[in-house]
Amino acid sequence: MAFPGVDYILIDSQLSAQELLVRQTARRFVDERAIPLIRECYRDAVFPSQLIPEMAELGFLGANLGPDSERYGCAAMNNIEYGLIMQELERGDSGLRSFASVQGALVMYPILRYGSHEQKEHWLPLLQAGKAVGCFGLTEPDFGSNPAGMRTRAVRDGSGWVLNGEKTWITNGSAAHIALVWARTEDGIQGFLIERGAPGFSATDIHDKWSMRASVTSSLNMTDCRLPGSAALPGAKGLKAALACLTQARFGIGWGVIGAAMDCYETARSYTVTRTQFDGKPLAGHQMVQEKLAWMITEITKAQLLALHCARLKDAGRLDAAHVSMLKRNNATIAIECARLSRDLLGANGITGEYPVMRHLCNLETVRTYEGTDHIHALVIGERVTGIPAYR
Ligand SMILES: Cc1cc2nc3c(=O)[nH]c(=O)nc-3n(C[C@H](O)[C@H](O)[C@H](O)COP(=O)(O)OP(=O)(O)OC[C@H]3O[C@@H](n4cnc5c(N)ncnc54)[C@H](O)[C@@H]3O)c2cc1C
Repeated sequence: MAFPGVDYILIDSQLSAQELLVRQTARRFVDERAIPLIRECYRDAVFPSQLIPEMAELGFLGANLGPDSERYGCAAMNNIEYGLIMQELERGDSGLRSFASVQGALVMYPILRYGSHEQKEHWLPLLQAGKAVGCFGLTEPDFGSNPAGMRTRAVRDGSGWVLNGEKTWITNGSAAHIALVWARTEDGIQGFLIERGAPGFSATDIHDKWSMRASVTSSLNMTDCRLPGSAALPGAKGLKAALACLTQARFGIGWGVIGAAMDCYETARSYTVTRTQFDGKPLAGHQMVQEKLAWMITEITKAQLLALHCARLKDAGRLDAAHVSMLKRNNATIAIECARLSRDLLGANGITGEYPVMRHLCNLETVRTYEGTDHIHALVIGERVTGIPAYR
């Protein structure tokens, strides 16, 4: 069934015809192609990789990388259009949006921004077309919120490099043709492109996840992994370079989670207006139920406005990482609360796979943690308003 959308205060009137068209395209793709598959994929813990070519053809991969990206086949959409795509994908499932986020913001963006001419010419057209999949390896078993402590090391070996270390919780890891791995060198942290099959490199999947089941999550191992000198991304130097990629991805998350929240809200609204209890009265006819729906749609509306404003700032080149921390933190928080309330309003039915809310709720637990946890983003905002870093 076509999703009707959630637009309480006529925010659509702020969108251009082109932006509405992009959303309509993404909405139809999710309704017709993703939703029919996703319940089974989630149950069986598989990513719906058959959707990759279509996502690529529709221009969803690396969609907002600016005019320079057009020569590599990218759609060069504005950030509202990109955000609306992320919103619709995550309405389908956070795993779908994670795939597109990693591919576009964490692999294509750094190659475009930090890569050599050869790296761009080779990888960007393949990644845009979905013919190659990428992953981004920053987190390590002992260094999640504090990636600056990473142990993975790259040492010069003649004209090449030798890498040793381990990355974990890496989205798309074992599915990736190319891994962007961050490692410590004698000149500080740097980014390296490791091709699947490189000697000394392996990826193993993390199983038994109860969240993000329709997404591949892996550990990457580098044991005397020998790379040519051309594997280093020449401009990707310092942790700042990695964090700039995360800012790109978090922007997409700030939009994406609105889609999950909208799906949870609409599921609860339509369920409670039709289900009756106590003398045939619809659940939605009770004040406490309406209060929950009112809370959800108010928070979704505030999240939509925050996302729209951030997209306009980004298009104007004025969005910074601390702004994105507020967007990601707030929107992930309200989305998870919408999922919890929706689950509650559906009663026992809310825990089944027949409805999407429990799946969204489980996924959003990951979204709240990855790309900077709720706490870490609170600390970024705290530092911005006080001038005092409180991470340690
Ligand atoms: C499904 C999934 C996919 C992922 N995909 C990727 C990926 O593609 N690439 C990648 O590199 N990583 C990925 N991650 C890893 C993710 O980014 C990390 O899990 C995240 O950064 C948190 O690190 P951690 O799990 O080690 O938690 P920890 O850092 O150990 O934090 C645990 C808890 O302590 C809190 N905490 C930590 N430090 C502080 C502090 N200073 N003050 C207050 N509280 C603090 C945290 O907020 C959290 O509540 C993924 C994770 C998941 C679950």
